[in-house]
Amino acid sequence: MPRTLSELTFDDTFVRTLPGEVPPPALARRSRDVPHAAWAAVDPTPVPAPRLLAYSPEAAALLGLEGTPDPGEAAAVLSGNRRLPGMRPYAARYGGHQFGHWAGQLGDGRAITLGEVVGAGGPGTRGGQRWEVQLKGAGPTAFSRRSDGRAVLRSSLREFLCSEAMFHLGVPTTRALALVDTGEPVVRDMFYDGHPRAEPGAIVTRLAPTFVRLGHFEILAERGEHTLGRTLAGWLLTHHFPELGTVCTDDALVGLFETTVARTARMVSDWMHVGFVHGVMNTDNLSVLGITIDYGPYGFTDVYDPDFTPNTTDFQSRRYRYGHQPAVAHWNLYRFAMALAPLITDPARLEPGLSAFVTHFEDHWRARMARRLGLTLDWTDPGDAALVKDLLALLTAVETDPAIFFRRLIDATATPAGRSGDAERVRLFDPAYYDPSARPADDGDVRARLQGFLDRHRARFDDPRETTPADVRRAGMRAASPAVLPRNYLAQEAIDAAERGDLQPLERLLDVCRRPYEDPADARYTARRPEWARDKAGCSALSCSS
Ligand code: AMP
Ligand code: MG
Repeated sequence: MPRTLSELTFDDTFVRTLPGEVPPPALARRSRDVPHAAWAAVDPTPVPAPRLLAYSPEAAALLGLEGTPDPGEAAAVLSGNRRLPGMRPYAARYGGHQFGHWAGQLGDGRAITLGEVVGAGGPGTRGGQRWEVQLKGAGPTAFSRRSDGRAVLRSSLREFLCSEAMFHLGVPTTRALALVDTGEPVVRDMFYDGHPRAEPGAIVTRLAPTFVRLGHFEILAERGEHTLGRTLAGWLLTHHFPELGTVCTDDALVGLFETTVARTARMVSDWMHVGFVHGVMNTDNLSVLGITIDYGPYGFTDVYDPDFTPNTTDFQSRRYRYGHQPAVAHWNLYRFAMALAPLITDPARLEPGLSAFVTHFEDHWRARMARRLGLTLDWTDPGDAALVKDLLALLTAVETDPAIFFRRLIDATATPAGRSGDAERVRLFDPAYYDPSARPADDGDVRARLQGFLDRHRARFDDPRETTPADVRRAGMRAASPAVLPRNYLAQEAIDAAERGDLQPLERLLDVCRRPYEDPADARYTARRPEWARDKAGCSALSCSS
C-alpha cells in the first residue's frame, strides 16, 4: 500500500496506446493546432510558493492513500513542481460545441494530466479502478489559445468543494484530491468590465477514471481522423467499458453510446433533484462516463425556478438554465452520435440509443420523485400524475427553496392528520419561503394551495396502497432529498475567508457536505439563502471568469 504520494505507481496507458505529440521544449507551451494526436506532452509550469490549502481524505483513499498528507510533499507534487517517476504529463486534445456552435479544437488549456494510478477501490468503485490524476491551473499547454493556463483561488475552491459535495450527494462526478495555493497572482477581469485585478492563483488536483469528453470524439470526426477515433474508442472500451468488449466493433461502439446515454440521463436526473445547475453544458464539458465534469459557474437552486441560470455569461439566451438541462444533455448526446457515426458501418444503429435518453431520464427522475414523496407513484394514475404536476406548480408560484420544502414535507407526514394539525403543518414550511408577505401563514392564497397539496399528499401517504411502513418511507424521503448543499453563497463565504488566509469556513462547509442527507447541528447550513446574498457577486450567479 502506498503511504505517500511519492510511493504511488503511475501508469500511462493513454499516452502509450494513443498517438500524441512530443514537441521540442520551446514549442510545448505554445498554442497550436495538434492534428492526428490525442494528446500533447507538456510539463506543468513551476509555481513560486505552493501551499496545500485543502485535501480530501476520501478522494485520497481512492488512490490507496491513508491518513494526513505530508503538506510539503503534497504542495510540491500537486502544484506540478515535483515530477514523480512514471509520470508522463500531457494535455488532451478535444473539440466541442460551445453554446450550440462548433468551436473547433479546444483541448486541455490549463489542465495537465500527470498519469494514471491503479487505485484501491473505495465506495462505489471497483478495486483496481484506474484514476487519472490531473492538475487544473498547471500552466499553458498547446491548447491554451490566448489564455494563461492558470486558475484563480475562487474558482478552484468552488471546484474542489463541489466535486466532493456532489460525490457525497451521490451524484456521479469527477473527484478532487487537493487544493493548492500557487503563491502566484493571476490577473482576471471578473466582471468583464475592463477592471482586471490580480487574484490569488490555485491548482485543483482532480481525479476521474478518465477525463475523456464527448468533444474528444467530435474533433476527430470533424477533422476526418477516423483511424484515431477507432483507436480512442478501443482504449476507452478496454479500460473503461470492458463489459462491452475490447475491440472497436460496431456492436461495441453502439454499446458504448448507449451506456453513455443511460449514464448521462441518470446524472442529469440527479442534478435536477439536488437542484444543481452546471452552467456551461458545452459538449467539451460532458464526460463519456456520464460523470459531472468541469465545475465552473455552477449553482444550486436556492429558489425553485426552471429559468435559473447561474452563469451571467448565459443571461441572454439562458441556454443552460436549470429546466433546460435534460434537453441540452440530449442535444449534446446527439452531437456525440454524430461524432461516432463515421466509425460505424450503419450509423442508424445509434438512433434507438439516442431516443432512449428520454425514457432513461424519465425513469430515474420519476423513481427519485416517488422516493422524495414517500410514495410508490403510479404514473398512469391521473391522481398521482396531477399530484406531482401541482407540486411543481406550487414550487414556482412564489419564491420557494426546494431543498427546505422537501425536508419539511417529511416532517409534515408525521404531524396530526386532519384539521387539528393544519396550522402546525403549514407553519413547518415557513423557512422555505423568501418573501415574508408570501409565507403560507400570512398569505391566504399560498396557504390554500399549500394546504391543498399537503392534504392530497397526506391522503396518498396514508393510503392502504402504500404497504411499506411510514417510518421506513420517511427514511427513504430523507435519503432522497438533501438537507445540505454547497450553495453559492456558502462557497463564496469560504472563498472570502480563504482569500484572507482563514480556511476554517471551507473545512466546516466541506465537513457538513460529507453528510448532506442528515440535518447538521448548525442550522445555518440548512437555511435558505440570506437576502444579502441575493444579488452579491458569486452568491447566486457568477461570470465565467476563472
Ligand atoms: P470551459 O468552458 O471553462 O470548460 O473552457 C473551455 C476551454 O477553454 C477549454 O479548452 C479550457 O481548457 C480553456 N480554458 C479556460 N480557461 C483557460 C485558461 N485560463 N487558460 C487556458 N485555457 C483555458
Ligand atoms: Mg471545460
